[in-house]
Amino acid sequence: TDLDSTFPLTFTLTPSETVRAEVEREAILADPGFGKHFTDHMAKIDWTVADGWHDAAVVPYGPLLLDPAASVLHYAQEIFEGLKAYRHADGSVWTFRPEKNAERLQRSARRLALPELSTEDFVESLKQLIAADGAWVPEGGETSLYIRPFMFANESFLGVRSAQKVGYYVIASPAGAYFPGGVTPVSIWLSTDYARAGRGGTGAAKTGGNYASSLLPQEEAYANGCAQVLFLDSSEGKYLEELGGMNVFLVKKDGTLVTPESSSILDGVTRDSIIELAKARGHKVEHRKVTFDEWRDGVASGDVVEVFACGTAAVVTPIAALKGADFVIGDPDAPAGELTMSLRKELTDIQYGRIPDVNGWLT
Ligand code: PMP
Repeated sequence: TDLDSTFPLTFTLTPSETVRAEVEREAILADPGFGKHFTDHMAKIDWTVADGWHDAAVVPYGPLLLDPAASVLHYAQEIFEGLKAYRHADGSVWTFRPEKNAERLQRSARRLALPELSTEDFVESLKQLIAADGAWVPEGGETSLYIRPFMFANESFLGVRSAQKVGYYVIASPAGAYFPGGVTPVSIWLSTDYARAGRGGTGAAKTGGNYASSLLPQEEAYANGCAQVLFLDSSEGKYLEELGGMNVFLVKKDGTLVTPESSSILDGVTRDSIIELAKARGHKVEHRKVTFDEWRDGVASGDVVEVFACGTAAVVTPIAALKGADFVIGDPDAPAGELTMSLRKELTDIQYGRIPDVNGWLT
């Protein structure tokens, strides 16, 4: 709704006066974990109905001052993104398909009645933050700097309508390898009591409410020894949707990859990239409605030979088994599938610059 305000934006820089010393930073980078430590700066852009996007800046990382009536706290008008910066062997730093995240943020903004930020301004906000905090991108193994852009309604007004004042921020957090001991297949919990999203709802948007509603079923998954939840469609409880934070693929005996098509799941950048890589290898890829029965019966008959989940955080995670209250599909101790692992390797090799980026996916 606001793509042309003062585009392109120029960022000012206010350097932090409390930049951490190199020894402190290196100690954190040696064992960053995930989402626990944050870099010295953050990027931000303000938006108002009257002025559009303005005051783009990189400022010291720190708490936000919110009025208790800030509408995001009451009506959850907020969206976010997640992507990573990777350090290559020559020391350079790269993001992976950031324009895809920009476009998804624009789609999320439309659904949540928030203003759209142009792809150029989104990518520039990442570049500016990394220019200030590049030293926080770890090196070696499958480490990265996780980047979290987000946008929320920041108008002090309790009426229920879209806000006329909005903030966009980008923060970054060094991340260790998701599977430090090697990739291990996981078991997934099938949620039958809860749905993640409904028809006409916000399932296709990356908005906090979708994650809030996934927390209780996620607790159920942990209690049953599973890593994540698989959600089915909310109307018939018949079709596969996605996991709480990842998309899902079935691999057929003939090498065909199948991934659910639905208006209420998140359009994953990793999923799209896997589809491209698999097609380039000559695999057939089907993006269509997939029933739960197709998974269960396919595993039983031997037609479904591998299952995996994919997303930015873990890239590709092999799924060994799907568990419910009274069933287990697959063998929880089964090794990772061959195609699963080779697609995972190809994608991470591109991200870390170990093979040529023939698709032009790196910025
Ligand atoms: N589905 C959901 C619900 C997610 O939160 C994510 C992570 N962003 C994904 C799928 C995977 O998306 P991507 O590959 O872009 O990380």
